[in-house]
Amino acid sequence: HSNFNQKIDYVFKVVLIGDSAVGKSQLLARFSRNEFSLDSKATIGVEFQTRTLLIDHKTIKAQIWDTAGQERYRAVTSAYYRGAVGAMLVYDVTKRQTFDHVTRWLEELRAHADKNIVIMLVGNKTDLSTLRTVTTEDAKEFAQRENLFFMETSALEAINVEPAFLTVLTEIYRIIS
Ligand code: GDP
Ligand code: MG
Repeated sequence: HSNFNQKIDYVFKVVLIGDSAVGKSQLLARFSRNEFSLDSKATIGVEFQTRTLLIDHKTIKAQIWDTAGQERYRAVTSAYYRGAVGAMLVYDVTKRQTFDHVTRWLEELRAHADKNIVIMLVGNKTDLSTLRTVTTEDAKEFAQRENLFFMETSALEAINVEPAFLTVLTEIYRIIS
């Protein structure tokens, strides 16, 4: 079924942030094209992907921005955050340091993004259960304290990816409508 000539009611810009190699590009590939690649190099350089969906009978174009390898501290520019109404803050459940850095990414968001931005904390790679170093409870508690939505995902196994993006988009819609 073609989206040609479809009337778009809203365009929502959502940014992916978080340390390098946590799975941001693969979460985006899963959400926008239902694809996954163990070698992510193919997606480097892509600025954003879009997916059009219906929320409450409105046609929403989700424009999801990817960092294209600028995750070094403070390397993501304010242009990246400009106009963003949602953020997926991703860490890797098997790499404790990527969870510890979430506070830095929140500071970045507070410095550069709109103060009403909807934020989803995403613990990715739950399929690697034997390698897990960040518990669900720790992350959930942190998210509650910081007023963030929270979900654990596997881009590889396509677990919770759709709900994570849809929760953010639905919340954005709820706020602006
Ligand atoms: P980015 O730097 O945050 O964009 O991370 P990538 O999306 O490039 O992923 C980094 C590496 O982790 C790649 O080798 C991916 O294939 C792998 N990866 C991403 N998501 C998952 C996942 O859910 N499970 C597993 N096991 N590997 C993943
Ligand atoms: Mg990437």
